[in-house]
Amino acid sequence: MSERFVSFLDSSLADLDRRGLTQTVRVLEGPADSTVVVKGRRCVQLASNNYLGLTTHPRVRAAAAAALEIFGTGAGAVRPIAGTMTIHEECEAKLAEFKGTEAALLMQSGYTANVGAVTGLLEPGDLIISDELNHASIIDGIRLSGADKRIYPHKDLDALERCLQQSKKYKKCLVVTDGVFSMDGDIAPLPGIVALKERYGAALMVDDAHASGILGARGGGTVEHFKLHGKVEIQIGTLSKALGAVGGFIAASARTIELLRRKSRPFLFSSALPPSVAASVSAAVDVIGAEPWRRHQLWENTRFFKEGLGALGFDTGASETPITPVILGDSKLAGHMSECLAAEGVFASAIIYPMVAEAKARIRTIVMATHSREELTFALDRFEKIGRVLGVIT
Ligand SMILES: *Cc1c(COP(=O)(O)O)cnc(C)c1O
Repeated sequence: MSERFVSFLDSSLADLDRRGLTQTVRVLEGPADSTVVVKGRRCVQLASNNYLGLTTHPRVRAAAAAALEIFGTGAGAVRPIAGTMTIHEECEAKLAEFKGTEAALLMQSGYTANVGAVTGLLEPGDLIISDELNHASIIDGIRLSGADKRIYPHKDLDALERCLQQSKKYKKCLVVTDGVFSMDGDIAPLPGIVALKERYGAALMVDDAHASGILGARGGGTVEHFKLHGKVEIQIGTLSKALGAVGGFIAASARTIELLRRKSRPFLFSSALPPSVAASVSAAVDVIGAEPWRRHQLWENTRFFKEGLGALGFDTGASETPITPVILGDSKLAGHMSECLAAEGVFASAIIYPMVAEAKARIRTIVMATHSREELTFALDRFEKIGRVLGVIT
């Protein structure tokens, strides 16, 4: 082994350890339900993005199993060569309808949906204006695109306008924002962003990874929540959160999708989603429409749990959605608190750098529609106990 390489490994790992940037990976011994089994012990699950409990929904499972029987385990190729099956196209039609757009394009993940959309549509000579707390996959897409970038302070519309004032000299300009911010659970000020991007002739891309299935009258996401249909050029989604599988998608006008089909590199150079995933996602979209109680219960649970954490005196930041952070500001404390909670039967992950700034280390909680009141009360009780022991609350 190369000596320089080995010493690089040693010093990098030692540096991460010294800064307390050690992510303990807990291994689930069963499905990602409202409770999970870890090391033989059942815990209340507060770390999953399986908001609506659809990963184990009978109709969603049955759709995946049937597709597995008929189409097999894989698509066999990239989409443009030989990997497009009827089942992918059906899923795309359902997603377009769900998001209220002309068309949609399946991608292998939310990550590649962001990278594929940004790099497929932007090039050197363009400007991208991005919220400072946007998801890493947006940031990586911007870097790869070669376009110029301006980062504006979180949700600061005045700063966004100052960036837009400098956009005239570019061929085109794209404003990008998360719809719901993944670590803080707050919602982007889309009406204000839309008004500004229209004034300056820019396009807008909204990443609704944590909003699809959750926000909006039919669960369509932030665009539906704010009734902004037709005003947002590109909507990004993931299939791995409320939709209960894995994968991502881009929802946009037919012409936008047509261009991305020809230019988006993850679409061109990485194989198609397995048919069972496309089938389960189509079924999940149907279930979201047929069982609105899941969304209502999710919000009911959100209110209960968020109020509970706030009443105990935890700093829950600016959250407005089922994502509720408990901000601690110290990576080691966050890791330790997560371990203490696990020992008490509550699974809540520490979120540390590089997922958030080092001084914003936290425990992030996400409630699910399928949590019972008893499970959430139990979790609040354990948060209170551990919070006192660690001196986080008094
Ligand atoms: C989770 C997430 C993604 C990535 O989605 P994957 O399907 O897990 O790759 C992208 N954007 C945001 C805002 C996310 O929260």
